[in-house]
Amino acid sequence: MSHLFYQGRTRKPVLAQARGVYMWDEGGKRYLDGSSGAMVCNIGHSNEAVLEAMRRQMEKSTFGYRLHFETEASERLAARTVEKTPVGLNKVFFVSGGSEAVESAMKLARQHAIATGREQRWKVISRSPSYHGCTLGALAVTGYATLTQPFAPMMREMPKIPAPRAYLDGLDPTDPATGDHYADMLEDCIAREGAASVLAFLMEPVGGASTGALVPPTGYMKRIRQICDRHDIILIMDEVMTGAGRTGAFLGADHWGVTPDIVVLSKGFAAGYAPLGAIVASDAIVDPVLDAGGFAHGFTYAGNPLACAAGHAVLEEIDRLGLIKNAARMGDRLRARLDGLMERHEIIGDVRGKGLLLAFEFMADRVSKRPLPKEYDAYLRFVEIAYEKGLIVYARRTRDGVEGDHILVCPPLTVTNTHLDEIIEVLDQSLQQFTAELPA
Ligand code: PLP
Repeated sequence: MSHLFYQGRTRKPVLAQARGVYMWDEGGKRYLDGSSGAMVCNIGHSNEAVLEAMRRQMEKSTFGYRLHFETEASERLAARTVEKTPVGLNKVFFVSGGSEAVESAMKLARQHAIATGREQRWKVISRSPSYHGCTLGALAVTGYATLTQPFAPMMREMPKIPAPRAYLDGLDPTDPATGDHYADMLEDCIAREGAASVLAFLMEPVGGASTGALVPPTGYMKRIRQICDRHDIILIMDEVMTGAGRTGAFLGADHWGVTPDIVVLSKGFAAGYAPLGAIVASDAIVDPVLDAGGFAHGFTYAGNPLACAAGHAVLEEIDRLGLIKNAARMGDRLRARLDGLMERHEIIGDVRGKGLLLAFEFMADRVSKRPLPKEYDAYLRFVEIAYEKGLIVYARRTRDGVEGDHILVCPPLTVTNTHLDEIIEVLDQSLQQFTAELPA
């Protein structure tokens, strides 16, 4: 009998081994990790250089409390992270995961406001749907009603604007007017809330699980940056899923040449080799906080040397193996092949994403964009079918007013053409089975 519990009682096969893009359970069954876990294992499993760097660090020390020691591992990783992120973002603060990083970013923004005499600013506007983490602070900015509602009495929910789902609204995402249309929603929200009370705007550059790889329309990102500047609002980019090369650039925001004030990293940053996250912020944000007495926030495991050694080795491997370029190249190929599946399978209503953050969405009818009935639990069933056939994919149902089941296909950035063939073959068979099972 197991003493573990997660979201439910369902037990999964026991993981015996993982190498590269493959994982094996105790019974010897092989799975292709088509979602890099939860878009985490960007460099593949059991990378020898990372394991070796971790072994070397373990020989030296595995813990040094941040109030007693700096460590070479955390200093090195901070320096490497600053090199990788846009010019001007010079300050790094480590945590152990995405939710902690989102909390830290919001608390840094708030302390910056206090340190600069703007105490009345506390609202963090975000988007819906969105997912920014499961702690109460991160939930308050998450736009996903089923996750947030039970906890509403325990937190102060923050204002939301709609995510730019042009494909559902029948708008052309390449038309700059579409970008303006959705960015104007931020402007309107700021006006409604009162600019003097708005602290920050938090967004993912390419949506993750909540929207199924939603890519912003033309012009949107630049307009968002301008609006934040105009109203003196801190732009926080949640790059937990998009960061560390997943979309074919180190940061998702790099595609649009937008420099956030605070970047949030986790997942691919240490690629699952250790629990790690970080915020990277400009001097302009951090210095006033330090001058005013310091950042009143921190976790016991912040800057853990083993996690930082893993993170550093992961960034080195991303460079050595050319994984960001590979994400862009293989992402284009996989995208084209998912488009091919859409041509053959009527049930796919949309394919979207960037680099190797890709998704397709089921629709009962492409023209009216009607989703499959909720009671089908289509996203769960599809994942199950693919899993039985040895392919792991990640799926969600969007639940903020518009129902829709989407499947994320996000293999490690190390994928080759042969892996893509295997992914597409299993997806094709799974789609056939899934469609055949649907009630007439
Ligand atoms: N932000 C985004 C965009 C995420 O996708 C996630 C997790 O899926 C989080 C934050 C929370 O990260 P964690 O689960 O590591 O706390």
